[in-house]
Amino acid sequence: MTLVLGCIADDYTGASDLANTLTRAGLRTVQTIGVPPDDLALPEVDAVVVSLKSRSIEADLAVSRSRAAEKWLRSRGAGHVLFKICSTFDSTDAGNIGPVMDALRADSGDRIVLVTPAFPETGRTVYQGHLFVGLVPLNESPLKDHPLNPMHDSSLVRVLGRQSETKIGLVNLAVLAQGAAAVRTRLAGLVGEGIGAAIIDAVFDHDLETIGAVAIDHRLSVGASGIGLGLARALVASGRVKAHSAAADLGAPLGGPAACLAGSCSQATLGQIANAERLMPVLRLDPDRLVTARDEAGRALAWAKDRLGKRPLLIASSSSPEQVAAVQARHGRDAAGHAIEQAMADIAEGLVEAGVRRLVVAGGETSGAVVDRLGIPGFLVGAEIAAGVPVLRAVGARQGAMLLALKSGNFGGPAFFSDALRLMP
Ligand code: ADP
Repeated sequence: MTLVLGCIADDYTGASDLANTLTRAGLRTVQTIGVPPDDLALPEVDAVVVSLKSRSIEADLAVSRSRAAEKWLRSRGAGHVLFKICSTFDSTDAGNIGPVMDALRADSGDRIVLVTPAFPETGRTVYQGHLFVGLVPLNESPLKDHPLNPMHDSSLVRVLGRQSETKIGLVNLAVLAQGAAAVRTRLAGLVGEGIGAAIIDAVFDHDLETIGAVAIDHRLSVGASGIGLGLARALVASGRVKAHSAAADLGAPLGGPAACLAGSCSQATLGQIANAERLMPVLRLDPDRLVTARDEAGRALAWAKDRLGKRPLLIASSSSPEQVAAVQARHGRDAAGHAIEQAMADIAEGLVEAGVRRLVVAGGETSGAVVDRLGIPGFLVGAEIAAGVPVLRAVGARQGAMLLALKSGNFGGPAFFSDALRLMP
């Protein structure tokens, strides 16, 4: 199997978003958790997105992890590697976008790299090298107050210039509007000036297509899911990839017991749990006992084992904002959150040991804890249950074939749990 597109994402949710975007554009896509083992057996896929947690770590570490990911992707045949960053260019003068880009560029041998976080359909546009978030420039958006990387400058040429060893140029909208050939000519001119990376404007959705058509002939690009979409469309349009329908590619139905776990206390999830109560047995856990007594997870498993069978079931730690505040006041916010996540991971592990092969998890942190505990190295991305929440098929899992759905708290409609299970036969 030869990959056409390799991606390295600097955080997990960004990786999921990109993998979902590539899948919707027709690429068969696997998302891995960290750099996969050398011997990971992949199904037939077009793209792999390696999820790292490298956005806010030391630049040296971000560089070494990204290079290891790149090496893995190239060893699987990836001709093009996209370094996926946040669409609001989250970074500081110390990195990590510039240092990682410089290292990957050196490895790739490319003389110039196209860089753009633009994704017009989500309100991220770049004009004259300035990033806009919705209607306002980056430095007037809420990102100016970000706790880890406050963004005080909307000029990406300057922002990247402070992080990178190379000089940064600009391909503006006026050039882009003339088409791919004009962009290539402009890039050749920038190379002649000794410039190693170029911010490229994008204001309209179709700008991504021109960018993708140019970028795909390079070995490396840097950007958010927007440029990912441009690359995917270029691969399909050029015939290098045959567009697939995500729904058809998840393989044979698994059958067997199904279970849902909810650790999110968001408004949407609370409504979805109430809704599920009409359709399946629901166990509401005692959050205090989850924090203080190890037997609450055991009690949940005993309850589940009595009921596992033809009907799905739901186990929830979720409670109302007032109850959450009370639990946090008693145990501390981080300690309570961590203990409950670990208890949910215990329950997930026990359910899988008991034969569950179809698992729906509500809550971003809760999902992370569950996936870590199950030790699943990657997922093949399938059809969307709700916007941004696809069905996932485990790849390389020691437990064998499994279907999962992992959703952040606020995602999905009122019938999310039954919607998910319907797409997870
Ligand atoms: P979301 O995607 O909605 O943010 P997360 O799973 O990321 O959901 O975060 C929810 C956090 O709340 C987790 O740390 C979880 O362990 C914690 N939690 C779950 N149930 C309760 C509860 N009843 N009281 C306090 N904290 C809880």
